[in-house]
Amino acid sequence: MTGQHRIVVLGAGYAGLAAARRLAGTARDAQITVVDARATFVERVRLHQQAAGQRISAWDLRELLECKKIRFVHACATELDTAGRRVLFDAEPALDYDILVYALGSIADPESVPGVAEHAYSVATPEDTRRIALSRGPVAVVGAGSTGIELAAELGESYPDLPVLLLGSEEPGAWLSPRARAHIRRTLERLGVRIRSDAKVIEVTADGVRLADGSLVEAAATVWTTGFRVPELAARSGLAVDAEGRVRTDGTLRSVSHPEIYAAGDAAVVAGPGGRELRMACATALPTGKYAADAAVARLRGVEPRPLRFRYLVQCLSLGRRDALLQFLHADDSPRRTVLTGRTAAWVKEGIVRGAAHAARP
Ligand SMILES: Cc1cc2nc3c(=O)[nH]c(=O)nc-3n(C[C@H](O)[C@H](O)[C@H](O)COP(=O)(O)OP(=O)(O)OC[C@H]3O[C@@H](n4cnc5c(N)ncnc54)[C@H](O)[C@@H]3O)c2cc1C
Repeated sequence: MTGQHRIVVLGAGYAGLAAARRLAGTARDAQITVVDARATFVERVRLHQQAAGQRISAWDLRELLECKKIRFVHACATELDTAGRRVLFDAEPALDYDILVYALGSIADPESVPGVAEHAYSVATPEDTRRIALSRGPVAVVGAGSTGIELAAELGESYPDLPVLLLGSEEPGAWLSPRARAHIRRTLERLGVRIRSDAKVIEVTADGVRLADGSLVEAAATVWTTGFRVPELAARSGLAVDAEGRVRTDGTLRSVSHPEIYAAGDAAVVAGPGGRELRMACATALPTGKYAADAAVARLRGVEPRPLRFRYLVQCLSLGRRDALLQFLHADDSPRRTVLTGRTAAWVKEGIVRGAAHAARP
């Protein structure tokens, strides 16, 4: 029985939309509302492409949702009144819920080191990416994780005359297999990206970045790609959260402090295979969003859901538009020896990104 129940999904990113899409199919008699501070769904996994001057698609959320009979509230949630089961806004009437799916995603952390907020750009959100202004001078991409690698490759390919420097304290893709790391390095170098793997950045200045050894690396623009954090709403509203402010959940993605709240995507702590927490990724946001919806509906029908079962399969990194890396994974996210590279990998990665947007859109 889901009739008359008010289910509110907070956040219309990959996790929130996957939840809403699922609810539209399984809880047809419930009142489903999705809330987002943005009017459009933007493919976040393509923001490095936008930073490199490419146009990326955006879909009108109201149109997407209302054709599935899901109400859309375009507003920024400021607090949860968990005792009254209401979402509060600054300029909108409060929204009552019986079940809440919390999927507010993640944002850049401007406090990672001094100077990030004042002097660095980010690609964490569409608003951050639109602010990026590149001149002819060198660009320092800080962080040799997947976002930094994808951005450096995209900039190198789109602007062959622009000096791009990828700075990290480890080798790019250090967590991947030796073959994957070698391919990333080879491709970045082919695209003209200079790599420094001994560079622990301790400050961003107007002229570049300062390293732990005291030296200054000059850059006309710095893009900070490391250190994401989550919105403070859950912590501020008294939900049980971890040190980063992510909602603590049980094996069914239910908040450990508030059983009427489920959490999914980047904003949730979710136990994964081998006892490791799921990493922040579109690849985890989609299945956790979908699962949270299923678990909530099962309970409304009086059925105890089975715990989430998740296993990793592959991690995909784009390396410009003509190359990519597919790293096959063990269930617990550790790398297998097998990788796929080159144009075929680029084609598969493009298909996965399109598929992810399709899976999210109701
Ligand atoms: C450049 C880049 C490339 C990436 N590439 C990959 C990749 O190749 N593969 C991969 O698996 N992952 C990738 N990721 C990570 C992936 O994008 C995220 O893990 C994923 O978007 C998380 O989904 P989510 O639904 O949890 O959150 P989000 O997609 O961040 O959505 C959260 C939503 O909540 C809304 N919101 C936030 N606060 C409020 C509020 N107070 N009130 C109302 N609405 C609010 C936001 O507007 C947003 O729409 C990449 C990330 C970046 C930045």
